[in-house]
Amino acid sequence: MSFLNRTLGPLFFPSILWRSSNSSIHLTFDDGPHPSATPRVLELLQKFGIQATFFLLGERVASYPQLAVQIMALGHTVGCHSMSHRSLFLKPLMAQRAEISRARSTIETTIGKSPGAFRPPYGHFDFSTLRASSDEGMRLVMWDVDSQDFSTRTNANVLRRLTRQTRQGSIILLHDNDQTAGRGSDYLAAIVENFLESGYTFAPVSV
Ligand SMILES: [Zn+2]
Repeated sequence: MSFLNRTLGPLFFPSILWRSSNSSIHLTFDDGPHPSATPRVLELLQKFGIQATFFLLGERVASYPQLAVQIMALGHTVGCHSMSHRSLFLKPLMAQRAEISRARSTIETTIGKSPGAFRPPYGHFDFSTLRASSDEGMRLVMWDVDSQDFSTRTNANVLRRLTRQTRQGSIILLHDNDQTAGRGSDYLAAIVENFLESGYTFAPVSV
């Protein structure tokens, strides 16, 4: 997936955003809002005064609407990550449309703004995904740097991986979910401090 994202993806799917032309880098958090992971991420980002992008799940927005509102109120960008996190790949167009449309409208109803970016669950998509998200007014946003923070990699491993792969305009995939809740906030602080020391600035993804 990493190879596809970094090399083949931009070649075959130029309408998708894989990396920006900004000089900033873009932290993106998938799978929230999560009752313990998301507040910790928000607090950390606020401490450093940086803004990120959160790709929210419709079902979790329905469960934790106040967190979705808080993400928005703190100046972060809200994107859509489907309703239930089922893979959309090779599902009929109507089924994909239902997942994407319900999530988009749940987010809009909750935060008062329709998201402009869609990230497919697991990064799996096909032409129906592109069509359904475009019909909902959203551009597909992938990433060029996968932190693998949801895996069993140690915090030091995650940081090393990010440092090696990130460059200007990089879109970095992170998560605020059950898997990352146990990492604490030290790992994220280390990531942010590391990039600040390297002279990077941070910005939400803009589509
Ligand atoms: Zn996800």
